[in-house]
Amino acid sequence: MIHEILPVGPLQCNCSILGDETSREAIVIDPGEEIPRILALLAKHSLTVKQIIITHAHIDHIAGAARLKRLTGAPVLYNQNDLPLVRMMDVQATWLGIPTPKVENPDDSLEDGKLIAIAGLTGSILHTPGHTEGSVCLYLPAQTLLFAGDTLFAGSVGRTDLPGGDTRKLLTSIHDRLLTLPDEVEVIPGHGPRTTIGSERSSNPFLI
Ligand SMILES: [Zn+2]
Repeated sequence: MIHEILPVGPLQCNCSILGDETSREAIVIDPGEEIPRILALLAKHSLTVKQIIITHAHIDHIAGAARLKRLTGAPVLYNQNDLPLVRMMDVQATWLGIPTPKVENPDDSLEDGKLIAIAGLTGSILHTPGHTEGSVCLYLPAQTLLFAGDTLFAGSVGRTDLPGGDTRKLLTSIHDRLLTLPDEVEVIPGHGPRTTIGSERSSNPFLI
């Protein structure tokens, strides 16, 4: 598997490119910004984007999605419970002091249990509300890899003070859906360094 992580934009959202070496098909996760850099990496690996997955509709994760879709033709998928956040993209833009990006409705909603498959790679969606109502994680069991969005970080958890945030739901999501995964699962958070389920289970101060 080809896996590139690029921190993009002012908040350094971890955008991931996941590609299959044989089929050259790819998934892009959270293209928040810097679409030219993402396209250059796709070209470098001769990858064709088949799906654009958004872990949640905060501006730093979703702002580049419509542009990447327009340039590649790939559908944009996110959970429909985050549509209220899409409706307030102008408010989100003022948080960062940037122009309001064009954000469209999802081509399909990422519901819990939904299978995400391209030729050579298969994952499933875990609905993990709390950071936002529509927050999801993508789990690839064969690669023991979890894309956690802003639900779980190395040594921390997602903030819940923004609209739609709910601390009790966040902790329930993490305990019931993420900490039940095997210790060796590698976690790629929405920001900052990677970690593992085992290390967060044993040492994350927010989860003890
Ligand atoms: Zn967020």
